[in-house]
Amino acid sequence: MIHSALPESLAKARERLHQALKEAGRPLNSASLLAVSKTKPAAVIRQAWQLGQREFGENYLQEALEKQADLADLDDIVWHFIGPLQSNKTRAVAERFDWIHSVDRLKIAKRLSEQRPAHLPPLNICLQVNISREDSKSGVLPEETAALAAEVAKLPNVQLRGLMAIPAPATTLEAQREPLAALRNLLVSLQAALPQAPLDTLSMGMSDDLEAAVFEGATLVRLGTAIFGARNTD
Ligand SMILES: *Cc1c(COP(=O)(O)O)cnc(C)c1O
Repeated sequence: MIHSALPESLAKARERLHQALKEAGRPLNSASLLAVSKTKPAAVIRQAWQLGQREFGENYLQEALEKQADLADLDDIVWHFIGPLQSNKTRAVAERFDWIHSVDRLKIAKRLSEQRPAHLPPLNICLQVNISREDSKSGVLPEETAALAAEVAKLPNVQLRGLMAIPAPATTLEAQREPLAALRNLLVSLQAALPQAPLDTLSMGMSDDLEAAVFEGATLVRLGTAIFGARNTD
């Protein structure tokens, strides 16, 4: 199975990221593209890999594990878990992923650290922040982020890399930028409080707000629909 629009849509997404970085006056290598492949079959991920994409984001654990098994021969692929995670499902993430962006409580981080296999490098963690303070959204509240980060930074087999957010939808660029700027400021304060942690990652920006996110310092933009088209099921 191939996805006939993929070469063009992936090229467009790369161009869009480059253009946004240029307009923000940032180096072209200062942000990278995370291809969000939830609901897309393994064959389409393989095709994106053949087009040079290496970082992939998945939301649903069972679906991700099945695709990883099909793609086990792609040894330089980098897997990011970006969906909500229940504490009884941490082991598979600890064993099979390189990154997780959705940690919002210490219990999950502790389990991931305990369950990370010794032969693998530390699991990279971003804390998910409920930056727009929505009742329906997961994520730690902004004012509780520093305390959680300080505890996660002490765990031996995970590496705290930064913050992730999914802001409430907004229609103007200005309105989009506000919560993204707040996430950046939160990362800056963590960098000051935890100088020993490699806090270099701002995971923000999706298909609808990539430009705003790049303007506010995103280092990893998570694009799904812009690369793969509408979700197959969801
Ligand atoms: C689905 C998803 C994305 C991608 O969203 P698009 O709008 O399709 O680009 C990014 N981040 C997370 C956490 C997601 O669940």
